[in-house]
Amino acid sequence: LWADITKLLKQNLDPATYATWIEAAKPISLVGNKLTLELLSPLHRDYWTRRHLDQQVIEYAYQVTHEDIQPILVTKSELQPEVSRSKTGTGVVTEEPGVTDAPDATPTFMKENALNPRYTFDTFVIGKGNQMAHAAALVVSEEPGVMYNPLFFYGGVGLGKTHLMHAIGNKMLEDHPDTKVKYVTSEAFTNDFINSIRTRTQEQFRQEYRDVDLLMVDDIQFFANKDSTQEEFFHTFNSLYDDGHQIVLTSDRLPNEIPKLQDRLVSRFAWGLSVDITPPDLETRIAILRNKVDADQIDAPDDTLSYIAGQIDSNVRELEGALSRVQAYHNLTHKPITTDLAAEALKSLNLANANDAITIPVIQDRVASYFHISMKDLKGKKRKKSIVTPRQIAMYLSRELTDASLPRIGNEFGGKDHTTVIHAYDKIGDALKTDPELQKDIDDLKEELRR
Ligand code: ADP
Ligand code: MG
Repeated sequence: LWADITKLLKQNLDPATYATWIEAAKPISLVGNKLTLELLSPLHRDYWTRRHLDQQVIEYAYQVTHEDIQPILVTKSELQPEVSRSKTGTGVVTEEPGVTDAPDATPTFMKENALNPRYTFDTFVIGKGNQMAHAAALVVSEEPGVMYNPLFFYGGVGLGKTHLMHAIGNKMLEDHPDTKVKYVTSEAFTNDFINSIRTRTQEQFRQEYRDVDLLMVDDIQFFANKDSTQEEFFHTFNSLYDDGHQIVLTSDRLPNEIPKLQDRLVSRFAWGLSVDITPPDLETRIAILRNKVDADQIDAPDDTLSYIAGQIDSNVRELEGALSRVQAYHNLTHKPITTDLAAEALKSLNLANANDAITIPVIQDRVASYFHISMKDLKGKKRKKSIVTPRQIAMYLSRELTDASLPRIGNEFGGKDHTTVIHAYDKIGDALKTDPELQKDIDDLKEELRR
């Protein structure tokens, strides 16, 4: 099963994504409909959920088996047998200096320190939009806790915030291997915190987050609306700050623009330095591409790299994606990398976007008016047949005409479970075999949508 699923993933992901995130995943067991996958680290798991790779697995597993298979993502350390922890519970507080928990007593969720070794200062290309951020990062990595505390990077996706953060951690560890560095996404911080409450390991949680020389929390915009997490983070922050330990944070916007971020956090973040990262200009984009192809030992003429850089001006992640696409074309066709080849490779990128014009909301809108029902009912929960059938048809068409995954479709229909979508899809698919009227409805709708 896993071989079949990965085959489909491979066809649908760019080679770099596939190599980095899927190849490293190991199937552990399939019990009932639960497919347990082992990922290398929490970083991998974050990526999986953030990029909805887990949803793609549901999707492809369904394509292969026509069963609703649920992936369970675990990391290596979580699979190790639980180490039993004995704490003396006499109620007497003893404070003996030098007595610490045995290393084994650390809860497994805190053990990992997932820095991407590829994200270093060496591999970071400096340009107009990021030179301030780069300079500040370098200073902080050399003299943590002194100049800019906290250091706060903000800017759009794919502009190198995470890369710079890891670069700081990697450099500090390289210069001083015994420094304690902790990197987490804000979601991981939240999860760890909640787990620590659930498992009554708040002491360990605090120790893990406060007893470090460098704490990096990525994408703190996800702290929005999470009051108790913010509260805990406030104390974490104060403790580190008071001890002169370095804090590095990132977000997609300025702290005061993050909805429902407590004022006291906003003001704390302003104590240090906030630097924005803006999209790279053409020259920087070309330099980034040059760096990548040289590192991968690929032959690519300058004018071709300029061409690619000219086509993709949004962010570095997409730029890298475009380059991977050109490389994949080159590998498949065995043609040398030229501007023509790049144009061909990127044309299909645009084509894919054109097909995307049929979106789930467009389908919903068309289906609702075709059957004279409201959008609200279409996405709602009413069980009347006159509403349920159009709803199932809209789900069916969403699956046929878009490449949205089953969970994503469910989501777009008022947050329904993907099993509801599977059910709808099968139901309509079956009914089509015997119901010419339904077939006509579907054909009409498809034609209307394609126009
Ligand atoms: P963000 O965290 O801002 O969303 P990332 O740090 O994840 O962005 O960067 C996205 C990708 O682009 C990563 O693969 C990263 O290595 C690369 N990247 C971003 N900026 C640069 C740069 N200046 N030089 C080289 N690679 C970069
Ligand atoms: Mg990031």
